[in-house]
Amino acid sequence: MNLPKEVDFIIAKLKSSGYDAYIVGGCVRDILMRIRPKDWDITTQALPQDVKKVFSKFKTIEIGIAHGTVGIIIENKIYEITTYRKEEQYINHRKPSDVSFVKDIRLDLSRRDFTINAMAYNESEGLLDFFGGREDIEAGIIRCVGNPNQRFEEDALRIMRALRFASEKGFEIEAKTYEAMCQHKRLLAKISKERINEELCKLLMGSFADEVLVKYSIPMLEIFPKNLLTQSDFQKAADVVSKLIALDLPLHFRTATIFAGIFLKEESLSEIASWLKTMKFDNKTVGKTLCLIEGLSIDIKNERQNLKWNLNRYGEINFKDMLRFRECYKSENLEHIKNTLKEIIDDGECFSLSMLEINGDDLVALGLNRGSLIGNTLQKILEEVINDNLENKKELLIEAVRAIQEEE
Ligand code: ATP
Ligand code: MG
Repeated sequence: MNLPKEVDFIIAKLKSSGYDAYIVGGCVRDILMRIRPKDWDITTQALPQDVKKVFSKFKTIEIGIAHGTVGIIIENKIYEITTYRKEEQYINHRKPSDVSFVKDIRLDLSRRDFTINAMAYNESEGLLDFFGGREDIEAGIIRCVGNPNQRFEEDALRIMRALRFASEKGFEIEAKTYEAMCQHKRLLAKISKERINEELCKLLMGSFADEVLVKYSIPMLEIFPKNLLTQSDFQKAADVVSKLIALDLPLHFRTATIFAGIFLKEESLSEIASWLKTMKFDNKTVGKTLCLIEGLSIDIKNERQNLKWNLNRYGEINFKDMLRFRECYKSENLEHIKNTLKEIIDDGECFSLSMLEINGDDLVALGLNRGSLIGNTLQKILEEVINDNLENKKELLIEAVRAIQEEE
């Protein structure tokens, strides 16, 4: 294995100070899968205060000193070094209340969630794989370390993590592990929504999210609004998600796909908004998701005026997203509409107040003084321009404003 020189350096320095050290967890898994690791976690026998002593010449930060994690900064990058530990007492099926440091790396590896995540490596000792992680990677299997029932009872977030890894890696969840996930799915209610959301977003963006929706729908359904989404909604969603994956479309397309099923069952958009918020999606994702769902039912015609009004209402980026989503969700062919839209945009046709050749200052110069009057007048002018009754030329617009003034 070729490790970055900084990682080699950290391990060598700990070893020369008399402590064992390894890379561990996700980065070992990724290297075995020939994926470039996102970050490098290092684990060592040295206690946090000893790690700080070994690296006293470097800038260190205390990331979670009580949990044994010290960050070392080398060339502006942070490397996390965590002391071997085992976790005791789980409270509310999540988060150990206490950690105790241990001498033996095997104990540290045995507390980790899945065999593929429970390996360590360094150059002198090679791969430490006590639970068959390498074999499981080769076979594409997600399997708990130890007794799956006990592991999900300790920490139900692992249910989401198993689904997330299945979605990211395209792995199968081993039968006993999956059985235990189904058995303990209700414990997900005790996990913080933020943690669930974090895993859910990764899951939805996974390259195999479509397969997970269909194959592992029992625990998946558990985190969504009860009784509204069913297995058959997931079947439909999976077909759409597979198109989204091929087109590499962002998160709000995936959330919209899942929740569109509820919308089509006559639930209101505001109801969907409140579910998305309960599930801790950020405001931007909520807004964009609702926009895509709304787009399934709006009137879109291949007419310049209709398209300009839609551009006015939703904005260019959102409206284009809505068209793409309709193509994926309803299998509509909107090529002709997209061509007309392109012409409107390339021609610089006006569809918003900010694109008008006059603004509030011009109206003030014409003697209009109240804010609301200025706003209403500009809106009237815009309507005339979008409806092709008036050209967007400054002198013509000013003439039209004078005409409106005379009328009133
Ligand atoms: P990614 O590449 O997406 O970061 P990862 O496997 O590194 O995946 P992290 O959440 O960064 O996932 O966790 C790092 C390691 O910590 C995992 O590989 C696993 O060994 C362990 N771990 C994380 N969360 C849990 C958990 N809930 N229960 C047990 N072990 C866990
Ligand atoms: Mg990680």
